Amino acid sequence: MRARVLIIEDEIDIAQLISLYLKNDGMEPVLCPDAECGLKTLLISSFDLIILDINLPGMDGFQFLQTIRKSNNVPVIIVSARKADEDLVLGLGIGADEFVVKPFSPKVLVARARALLRRVSEKATLNSKLIFFGDFSLDPEAYLVKKGDSRIFLTAKEFEVLRFLLLHQGKTFTASQLYEKIWGKKYGDLATVAIHIQRIRKKIEEDPANPEFIQNIYGAGYTFVIQPRHTH
Ligand code: CA
Repeated sequence: MRARVLIIEDEIDIAQLISLYLKNDGMEPVLCPDAECGLKTLLISSFDLIILDINLPGMDGFQFLQTIRKSNNVPVIIVSARKADEDLVLGLGIGADEFVVKPFSPKVLVARARALLRRVSEKATLNSKLIFFGDFSLDPEAYLVKKGDSRIFLTAKEFEVLRFLLLHQGKTFTASQLYEKIWGKKYGDLATVAIHIQRIRKKIEEDPANPEFIQNIYGAGYTFVIQPRHTH
């Protein structure tokens, strides 16, 4: 996928130079000569990155950034001729991801754009691995379960049982099937499974006696019930 980049820059020579370098790097630039154009363009189409000049006619880059940050988390690289703007940008915490001082080498700008796009996409991939249920999230590889921002402590086996049921939402497994899947043995004390389920319930269920997530299907086993209450 070609990265779409919105360039907001009133100096046409600079805008065209950035645009040319981005194109040569396989990106798809769109030009706006002022912040008002930028706002309109963002309403009708989405971008992977914005390269934003600060000193613009009309609304300046700071105001533009503050306006879009109310509803948009697209990565932003600020370019400015005033080195002092860097402190402002960082100090205000108004949501710029990078700062480039003019005059700049277009090659360096493109490299920083690339690096930023890569960081953002890596973060997105990482987040997409999370599985959400109710107020909880489970990271299948990091052995991490959270309720909101607080960590829920599970033993490794508790985690594996929960992960297995969660990854197979809606399917029912007998205690002996779970024992085989999680403990990797065909025979053993099946009460172990029930004990683990009980402990998990104590940690994730509001009322462990009336579980909403891991339910007993009488005579069949355990099943993780899909709870589409929350979206994240
Ligand atoms: Ca300018």
